Amino acid sequence: MKNIFSIPRNDLENYFININDKKFRATQIFEFLYKKRIYDINNMNNIGNNIKEKLRHDFDFSFIKIKLKQEDKDVKKYLFELSDGNLIESVLMYHDYGISICVSSQVGCNMGCAFCESGRLKKIRNLETYEVVQQILLIENDIKERISHVVVMGIGEPFDNYDNIMNFIRIINDPKGIDIGARHITVSTCGIVPKIKEFTNDFSQVNLAISLHAPNDTIRNKIMPISKAYKLNELMNSIKDYIKITNRRVTFEYIMLENINDTNECAKELSNLLKGINCYVNLIPYNETENIGFKRTKKMQILAFYDILKKNGINVTIRKEFGSKVDAACGQLRSNQN
Ligand code: SF4
Repeated sequence: MKNIFSIPRNDLENYFININDKKFRATQIFEFLYKKRIYDINNMNNIGNNIKEKLRHDFDFSFIKIKLKQEDKDVKKYLFELSDGNLIESVLMYHDYGISICVSSQVGCNMGCAFCESGRLKKIRNLETYEVVQQILLIENDIKERISHVVVMGIGEPFDNYDNIMNFIRIINDPKGIDIGARHITVSTCGIVPKIKEFTNDFSQVNLAISLHAPNDTIRNKIMPISKAYKLNELMNSIKDYIKITNRRVTFEYIMLENINDTNECAKELSNLLKGINCYVNLIPYNETENIGFKRTKKMQILAFYDILKKNGINVTIRKEFGSKVDAACGQLRSNQN
């Protein structure tokens, strides 16, 4: 039985047409779930009893649960328990421009990036759409505020769970749904080229971020196995097509790993790679963990790297660090508590 929070409004309209009811019923249900936040079908007061009975029979209305919450100054990390006992995490961050949430897309991850704590646990399964939607509903209920920005950059590779994540975007972007503007939604991929092409056609208004982390195939092959399947050249061509079709700027994420990808030569090579591309680069200070041997690049070298990109006309920022005290920083999310 499908969970009701997995169904985009179009599909729900088709459901109501198929049961010989009115198409607009889907909008009514969406308004209860996402506007009024009424989840008990008994309290949906303008829906007839026969339809309520049918919905109860055809859909699951259950929720995932918040198991643990950790807080730091401007960040909260949530551990969720799924109905099969698996655990996932989301991170909420307070910015001067709004409140963002970084959601997970899978339990574990198969992409095997060498620096990534989140991917140490191999993929157990994809998240269903409702399990991603409910990360937002439960956190908004917890903080009693609206989330303004969503980033699909937690545990998992969203393009390895394409259909469920795209339905998630349809629901959160729907004006009758959670109603978060497409330009406030970002999907981050490690570089699954065929899916970048599909995404370009399906969601031309949604932001794309690429976990790049290296200026050439040699370094990328060492730290990101996906690079053996899709060479940098192929990846860059798909990104150029995305920009041409969508007219949107792409973000490149670049984790700074000492003596791996952080030399001045790497900065020059990266500048050449990105020259003329409508993008900005987000340099991410690495968070060392006990389980992985990489070291964080020294602050001086991060600044030198930044300067080289800047001098070469590349838009670049150094990511503000959030939540390292609560293990909520990039690459530190986990699907378990150990
Ligand atoms: S960085 Fe992202 S894609 Fe790579 S292993 Fe970690 S979660 Fe997976």
